[in-house]
Amino acid sequence: MARPVGILGGTFDPVHNAHLAIAGAALRALDLQQILWLPTGAPAYRPAPVAAAAHRLAMLKLAIAGEPRYMVDERELRPEASGLTFDSLSSLHKDVPGQSFILLLGADQYAKRASWHRWTDIEKLCEIAVVARPGFKLDAKARTIPMTPLPVSASDIRERIARGEDVSAMLPPAVLAYLREKGLYL
Ligand code: ATP
Repeated sequence: MARPVGILGGTFDPVHNAHLAIAGAALRALDLQQILWLPTGAPAYRPAPVAAAAHRLAMLKLAIAGEPRYMVDERELRPEASGLTFDSLSSLHKDVPGQSFILLLGADQYAKRASWHRWTDIEKLCEIAVVARPGFKLDAKARTIPMTPLPVSASDIRERIARGEDVSAMLPPAVLAYLREKGLYL
């Protein structure tokens, strides 16, 4: 049977080193054939991302360039997309019948799972694997991916850039160069 495909969804506003660490750790620990990076659009039920989708997508592509097992899936950026993980998983299943998927989540997102649209149905469509995140308890029931917790977040990076601080240790160099060139998050 085909090895599972990991799904890493997020706003990636911007993509940072913890996202890359999650993907690398998941590839190894779960023996994934591939990771689908699923950037979210701007659905009505949550605050809009700061950078435009085109910028977030461009930074994501720069961050994962050179790793053939990483692919960007743009279905949540389509104008008609609901942005709901349940809908994305359902459409992935239709596109690739029989493929198994593992949804990769930080402990912060996993802690909020009860509020997700159709969470119990999501659990029927895929496995869930969780990584530790500083400040969030890992649920003992969750399947976890071993990873050293990294104190990096996109919101902290945006605030640091706005304050003129150095964020070069938190992002791939190509992403940093892009956001500097475009003047993002200033
Ligand atoms: P923001 O600070 O804007 O909320 P973020 O850093 O959490 O952003 P997202 O794009 O929202 O980044 O996250 C995508 C996924 O990566 C989520 O499942 C989130 O839990 C996970 N994630 C992000 N940063 C970390 C981290 N430092 N440790 C573990 N998981 C993380």
